[in-house]
Amino acid sequence: MGFGDQIMASGLARGAAALGKRIAFGDGKRILWEKSSFDIFRGNPNVAPPGCEQDPDIEWIDFYKGHRKYNRRVGNRWVWNLNFRATPGEIFFDAAEATAGRRYGESFVVIEPQSAQWKSVAPNKDWGVANFQAVADRLRESGLRAVQFRGDVSAVALAGVEQLRTTSFRDALAILSRASLYIGSEGGLHHGAAAVGVPAVVLFGGFVPPSVTGYATHTNLTGGAAACGSLNRCNHCRKAMEAISVDEVTSAALARL
Ligand SMILES: [Zn+2]
Repeated sequence: MGFGDQIMASGLARGAAALGKRIAFGDGKRILWEKSSFDIFRGNPNVAPPGCEQDPDIEWIDFYKGHRKYNRRVGNRWVWNLNFRATPGEIFFDAAEATAGRRYGESFVVIEPQSAQWKSVAPNKDWGVANFQAVADRLRESGLRAVQFRGDVSAVALAGVEQLRTTSFRDALAILSRASLYIGSEGGLHHGAAAVGVPAVVLFGGFVPPSVTGYATHTNLTGGAAACGSLNRCNHCRKAMEAISVDEVTSAALARL
């Protein structure tokens, strides 16, 4: 699932270097990284890159593509491992990245109205652009600065919301680290917000339980639904999202600020 999984992995590796260890994510024989692993783990002293399989400081964790510890595939749905708890991840920015992350200032609210539209589960995680627009309008009426990231595969641009050009996902996270709040769906940026220590209001809906991939530092809204994990367009998930009101999200946002 891309960046979110790598950020969760960085949470699993937290503190390893302080114990003289590095975590090898793989099957016990090979360290199995994806392209997004290289992006997220750059500069991270707790994680061992491919090629370190024989090093003496290695400790294996079986968390890799096709084998995540928080779910397993049964037919057309995920079955969630309710014993799994996401730990906030870590991103190690170099000096240039940290400097670049300050170029839009700070204390703004990042709104992400759509996540990963190319995934089959996208409809189940979609609260609706019109709802996000309504929240953005209310925040702006309250005098807050609402922004949205604009990269290669960006969501639809909300009206009246400042569009911040980003050069990469890491660049977006460096900017996000200066934010007061993130509002958006369950996905890469909510994991990113937890990793850079930014509070969030996360629209979970009925797909994945907040107890598994959510964070205690965030307000996680489910619309009262139990998570189904369906990889198909799901009526239950749509109803869960419909049960979350603009008022509820706006109030949660203002409470977090
Ligand atoms: Zn569902």
